[in-house]
Amino acid sequence: MIGGGATGAGVARDLALRGIEVLMLERGDFCAGASGGNHGMLHSGARYAVTDPVSARECAEEGRALRRLASFCIEDCGGMFVSLPQDDPGHTARFEKACRAAGVACQPLTVQEARAKEPGLAGDVVNAFAVEDASVDPFSLVMGNVESAREAGAKVLNYKVVQSFRVWRHRVEEVMFMDAITGEAERVKPEVVVNASGAWAGEVASLAGLRIAMSVDKGSMVVLDGRICNGLVNRLRPPSDGDIVVPNHSASILGTTSSPMARPGPVCTTREEVQSLVREASFVLPRASQARGVRAYSGIRPLLASTGRKASRGFQIIEHSSHGVENMISVIGGKLTTYRLMAERAGDAVCKVLGSSASCRTRSEPIVSDGHEDHLEGVLQIHRRRMLSKYGPTRAKVAEACARRPRGTELACSCEQVLQGELDHFASHPDVRALGDLTRRTRAGMGYCQGGLCALSLLSSLAQRTDQDPQRLLEDYLSERWKGLWPVLEGEQLRQEVMKRYLLTGTYHLRIREGAP
Ligand SMILES: Cc1cc2nc3c(=O)[nH]c(=O)nc-3n(C[C@H](O)[C@H](O)[C@H](O)COP(=O)(O)OP(=O)(O)OC[C@H]3O[C@@H](n4cnc5c(N)ncnc54)[C@H](O)[C@@H]3O)c2cc1C
Repeated sequence: MIGGGATGAGVARDLALRGIEVLMLERGDFCAGASGGNHGMLHSGARYAVTDPVSARECAEEGRALRRLASFCIEDCGGMFVSLPQDDPGHTARFEKACRAAGVACQPLTVQEARAKEPGLAGDVVNAFAVEDASVDPFSLVMGNVESAREAGAKVLNYKVVQSFRVWRHRVEEVMFMDAITGEAERVKPEVVVNASGAWAGEVASLAGLRIAMSVDKGSMVVLDGRICNGLVNRLRPPSDGDIVVPNHSASILGTTSSPMARPGPVCTTREEVQSLVREASFVLPRASQARGVRAYSGIRPLLASTGRKASRGFQIIEHSSHGVENMISVIGGKLTTYRLMAERAGDAVCKVLGSSASCRTRSEPIVSDGHEDHLEGVLQIHRRRMLSKYGPTRAKVAEACARRPRGTELACSCEQVLQGELDHFASHPDVRALGDLTRRTRAGMGYCQGGLCALSLLSSLAQRTDQDPQRLLEDYLSERWKGLWPVLEGEQLRQEVMKRYLLTGTYHLRIREGAP
């Protein structure tokens, strides 16, 4: 298994639950690709009903299934589509019919009903429909799949870069990989290789001399402090830039843009993208233009052959036996919402190569078998609910670590209410090699101060358990935070950040790299 995003983690879990021996290799941290760079929208399918009905149906069915199977990390807040006077009434007319045809639940609302649900809506909303969108935490979903795969026996490793294959007699005989931090080289002889490397699937396939017809596309998002809506609010028009607002924890995520790329590479959000996303969102929810910008970030979509908004959001399982490599399968395209279905189909393809009749269990087995937080001992009630939603299968171990460790129940990140014991628990795990890994697992540093106040708590947790240079760890972390911060800075917030930056670079002599491309 190559790739540790939602698709790779989902395939690892699927195969491990079928009783198949699995080794999953991710070159960075889990969820560091598109799976951590999206809106966190559990699609009802409505967004694609008119333009991409196959994908709409898949989203509708999987969205319902995930509410049952991964409820711990889903906030079932519902959503709505609204149109403004300038939007095409023809699209509105097609929308309801297309939803019905694709099995997507869609309920017309009067403008008064819509405003009762979402008091922040603009005064000139013309049409509104309630849909079954929800907000999902992609980090918790992916880490939950990783832990569940491990519990079922999979070996799952991050910071392992797959570098080359040895192909012999139409089979990948060996996979050569390297530890991204120590440079140590290793190799493994696989029976089957699953390429779930998202936007990089073409590059990984080329290591076996294969070509995949796919395209990649950059999308950017802005995080605003506070929730400007109760549920998801979508603009009712053919998919275009700045259509979606997703409430997420204590923030709102505005998205997204679409810029085709020649090949996947490092991506940075521009100030122009931020301004355009805020402007578009404020047509529907005027408060978007007043809220404080917390961060901007971008991800790269792995898409089926055509580019940008025109590309289907469906997925494809490619069995490369028909291209001359018998034991390799690539999974491309799809959505976070459909990751489980993609993993199921990839699992079926692996079983076909292995001649195994083991059947899929992820359709019925939830990632967290009991959804109650009550038995989390040693932490206050207010932290229990949060721990369940963030940590799913490992919540009891994290709560125990907080109760057991000295200072474990002290607050380490006040924006995201993260306890010191949560940081210490994850810092002692071999998966965690950088401060950003702690942020992805605990949310410390994701709040409105962007690590300004808690970066030293993160560092003190990790520095005790690694021989890496602490100053370098801190500089890498603050540079990554700065990359997401500078595009949203304006006015008073800009002045505050200049002051913070002066303290870090002038007084503490830290080298924070510029975020601008
Ligand atoms: C801007 C944007 C917004 C989106 N919004 C939503 C949304 O709201 N809802 C939704 O359902 N979907 C959304 N999506 C789509 C969704 O995020 C992706 O379809 C999904 O996350 C893809 O997961 P993946 O595991 O296939 O790819 P990724 O998450 O990118 O994972 C691929 C992994 O492979 C690893 N890799 C690459 N090369 C190698 C190598 N040589 N060795 C080892 N590992 C390697 C990478 O490091 C990466 O972690 C959005 C996507 C974008 C970009």
